Amino acid sequence: MIIPMLFSVVYLLACFWVAAKAKHRKVGSQRAFHIAVLLTPLVALIVVLSSAKKLETHLQFFRCKRCGYEYSEKHASCPACAKEGLKIYVNESIKPEVVLR
Ligand SMILES: [Zn+2]
Repeated sequence: MIIPMLFSVVYLLACFWVAAKAKHRKVGSQRAFHIAVLLTPLVALIVVLSSAKKLETHLQFFRCKRCGYEYSEKHASCPACAKEGLKIYVNESIKPEVVLR
């Protein structure tokens, strides 16, 4: 009784692992998970590895606390505030990450 249960757990974990591997592939996590459940994780892994990688661009945004000016590049100090003669240090990102697909 314990062996089939253990097998199911390992099988499902393998399915989730394959789905996680497919996150940055064109096949996608959800489709990879379905393939893994229906046609074993090994078949899904082959599908995932043969699938092309997604073209992604990671953008990070920074915002000045004083003027609210936002930019995608990290500056030592805020360029907008620098024009007014103020030196405001900006080193925190407002959103953790934005992924363009
Ligand atoms: Zn500023």
